[in-house]
Amino acid sequence: MISVEQALEKILSYTDILEAEQRPILDAMGQVLAEDVYAAIDVPPLDNSAMDGYAVRAEDTSGAGLKSPRFLRVIDTVMAGSISHHEVEPGTTIRIMTGAPIPKGADAVVRFEDTDESERKGNPGETGILCEVKAGTALRRAGESVVKGSLVLRRGVVIRPAEVGVLASLGRDKVEVIRRPHVAILVTGAELVGIGQPLPPGKIYDSNTYSMASMVERYGGIPKILGVAQDTEDSLAAGLKQGWDADMLITTGGVSMGDYDVVKDVLAKEGEVVFWKVRMKPGKPVTFGRIKGASEAGTARNTPHLGLPGNPVSVMVTFELFARPAILKMMGKKNLAKPTIEAVIEEPIINGDRRRIFARAIVEKRGGQYFARLTGPQGSGILTSMTSANGLVIVPEDKPGVEKGDIVQVMMLDWNEES
Ligand code: AMP
Ligand code: MG
Repeated sequence: MISVEQALEKILSYTDILEAEQRPILDAMGQVLAEDVYAAIDVPPLDNSAMDGYAVRAEDTSGAGLKSPRFLRVIDTVMAGSISHHEVEPGTTIRIMTGAPIPKGADAVVRFEDTDESERKGNPGETGILCEVKAGTALRRAGESVVKGSLVLRRGVVIRPAEVGVLASLGRDKVEVIRRPHVAILVTGAELVGIGQPLPPGKIYDSNTYSMASMVERYGGIPKILGVAQDTEDSLAAGLKQGWDADMLITTGGVSMGDYDVVKDVLAKEGEVVFWKVRMKPGKPVTFGRIKGASEAGTARNTPHLGLPGNPVSVMVTFELFARPAILKMMGKKNLAKPTIEAVIEEPIINGDRRRIFARAIVEKRGGQYFARLTGPQGSGILTSMTSANGLVIVPEDKPGVEKGDIVQVMMLDWNEES
């Protein structure tokens, strides 16, 4: 049986970074920039005021103080978005609002707080300047934030709200990013019934489709739901055909030792099995290979196929460990690992058959230290253990277990930032 690392290495060696596409900037969140972005303009495009106040010639304020105001004649008012057609000449000033372009002749702004503004009512014909300012005071220079022609965002960065904002500040409405992978999802099992239907005796609702589609979306992919295949080679092969055009196929179920576990057989017939079984718990029967199909256009293609086990918890854990990094790699991301922390384990965990255990746990920080406790029964069918958990405690395969109080590694599933 191969290790988790070996399995991941194999999967990544069969997944490629996808092509670039043009996207509206608002739709590119979480995608990786595929171009170097240079500034077509200065930001800000012209000198403007950092304050509400008076645009002055700095020399006109010389000697100004609380007890010795310098009076200037107010010749105009300029707001953000418009340009004054007057020039500030010696002895004059223009009222100016934050963001408004600096008028000709002016080289500084005196904020209202440093004038006698508050003592005047209405539109004053003059203003008293109460302090000296140097040339450049309260000005925002053209190009202060970004110089025209400079490299602003480098290819490879992930688009976050700040990058979207910077692109908008440059006037960009579209951007070149690595496209999102299409991930086809097919579940197998004669017992499965779709949600929204009555539940006949002997059947269960299909939950794997929905937890997986949500994870595909969460990590940036586009899920394509193929539905339920029966436990026969024909049904599975027919279902998989619907997903040939995807960048990755994921199935659940049908990879164990049961009579109806046909995923490996189909994979062997339609392509190749790269591995079956990983030394982990839950998720041991996870299978990986590729389907040699043809795209709708008729060109041959190899689609990576991740065959996850059927149990709903195994599905989520193996998805986090194997599907998530593959999706991230296809999107051009570099950091593929979930963040891992060290925590004190509050109860023992026994590792009977020496596999790597990923135990569902609740991680809390108390007094500057993380503590982890199990969510309860760890059966791989108990999906509610995943709703309580925010982390997976890792017990290494070469250890018989961990004792209460040991320091353990915990792979964080989320940081409860939305709770
Ligand atoms: P299998 O690996 O196909 O033997 O499935 C293992 C267990 O997971 C069985 O109890 C199945 O009923 C259950 N299971 C398989 N697929 C799903 C699914 N899509 N949704 C919920 N449970 C499932
Ligand atoms: Mg099954």
